[in-house]
Amino acid sequence: MRSTRVVTPEDTRPATVLVTGGRIDRVLPYETGVPTGVRLTDLGDDALLPGLVDTHVHVNDPGRTAWEGFATATRAAAAGGITTLLDMPLNSLPPTTSVAHLRAKQDVARPKAYVDTGFWGGAVPGNVADLRPLHEAGVFGFKCFLSPSGVEEFPELDADALASALAEIAAFEGLLIVHAEAPGRLEAAPQRRNSGRYADFLASRPRDAEHDAIRQLIDLARESRARVHVLHLSAADALPQIRAARREGVRLSVETCPHFLTLTAEEIPDGATEFKCCPPIRERANQDELWQGLADGTIECVVSDHSPCTTDLKTADFMTAWGGISSLQLGLPAVWTEARRRGHELADVARWMSTGPARLAGLTGKGAIEPGRDADFAVLAPEETFTVDPTALHHRNQVTAYAGRTLHGVVRSSWLRGERITEDGRPLKRAGRLIERNEP
Ligand SMILES: [Zn+2]
Repeated sequence: MRSTRVVTPEDTRPATVLVTGGRIDRVLPYETGVPTGVRLTDLGDDALLPGLVDTHVHVNDPGRTAWEGFATATRAAAAGGITTLLDMPLNSLPPTTSVAHLRAKQDVARPKAYVDTGFWGGAVPGNVADLRPLHEAGVFGFKCFLSPSGVEEFPELDADALASALAEIAAFEGLLIVHAEAPGRLEAAPQRRNSGRYADFLASRPRDAEHDAIRQLIDLARESRARVHVLHLSAADALPQIRAARREGVRLSVETCPHFLTLTAEEIPDGATEFKCCPPIRERANQDELWQGLADGTIECVVSDHSPCTTDLKTADFMTAWGGISSLQLGLPAVWTEARRRGHELADVARWMSTGPARLAGLTGKGAIEPGRDADFAVLAPEETFTVDPTALHHRNQVTAYAGRTLHGVVRSSWLRGERITEDGRPLKRAGRLIERNEP
C-alpha cells in the first residue's frame, strides 16, 4: 500500500506499507522498489489511516432487528472506514448479561459480519455471578447504567449493586464502562411532557447529572482500584475533576462522540428528535471545552454511540422519542470536518478514533499502522466533500442527524487484514471475524 500520506503513530509521511499474511510487516520509504510477485496498491494522495475501532455500537440483533442488525451495521461501519466494532450489551434480545446470551449473539453475528466484531457484557441487578464467566468467555468489559437505560430488560444499578459489580470486576482485572448520569439529578430536573422544544429536553438532562455520577465513579474507582470508563461524555464541566483524578492515579478513561463534537443545541430545530440522545447535545461553549479535552489528552476516544431505531419511534415529542443518534457510517467525516476547522491533523483523528478505542479494549493487534498489527485501513480523501444523503447510508433506518450536511473526507475504501472490503461505499467482501478479549 503506497500513499503520500500514511498516518503512523510517529508522523504522517509518504510511505509504502508492506502487508504479509494480513498483517503489517514493515513501513518502508515511499520510493521502495516493489519486487516482482508483490502486488502494489498505489493510493496516490489519498491518506492511509489505521482502520477505525468503534467501541460503542448498538447493533440490537437479535431481537430488535427492525432498528439495526449485524449485516446492516457492519456494512455501514465498513463503508465509513470502521474495521472493528464492539457491540453494546443492551437493546438486543437477549441482552449480553450471561454466557448463554453472549453465545446466542455471537451465533447471530458470525455469518453477517463485514468487519471484526466483539462484545461488551452487561452488569445488571442480580448478575454478579455471571461477570467472571462472561469475562472468561471473551467480553471486553461490562456496561452498566446508573439511571434507567430506556429498555426494561436492562435495569440500572443502584449504589450497592454498583459497588458489588465493581468489586467483582476488580477481582479479575476487568473493565467497567458506565453510562454516567445520576438518577437523583434527572428526577429533580424539570420534565416537561409533550414538548417538541429542544430546550425543554436539554433542561431535563442537566450537566449536574453527569458531573455527580462521574464524581461517584471516581470515588469508587479510587477505592476499588478498578478500571472505569466513562461513556459518551457530554458535559465538559466534568473534565476538571477527571483531570484531577487521573493525576492522582485513578484508573479512569473517557470517551465522547461525533455528535457532541459537531452538533450544538443552538442549531437543533424544535421537533427534530433525530438529534435526541442521552446525555444530550449541549451548547456551543460546552463543545469548545470538549475539543479542549481532546486536545490535552483527557478524552482519549471518539466513538459513535450509534443507537438507531425505526422512524416511528422518533416522534416529535422529545420526552418520549427514542434517544439515540445514528452515525456509524458518518463518524469519520463528521469528526474530521470539525477537527480540520479547528486546526487538528489526520493523526489526531486516527488517535481518537482508532488508537484510543483499541487501547481501551486491549486490542493490541488493532489501532495503528505499525509492524505486527493487522493490516486494517481506512483510505480517505481528506479534502473532498460530500453532502449527506440518508438514502446512501447502509444503516437499517435512514434517520440521521447529519442529513443535508456537507462534510469533508470521503472514505474511498476500507481494508481488513489486507483485503479490500469496501470501495466508494459499496461493500465488496464480508471478511469480519468475531473477536474476543486478548488474554493478558
Ligand atoms: Zn450507547
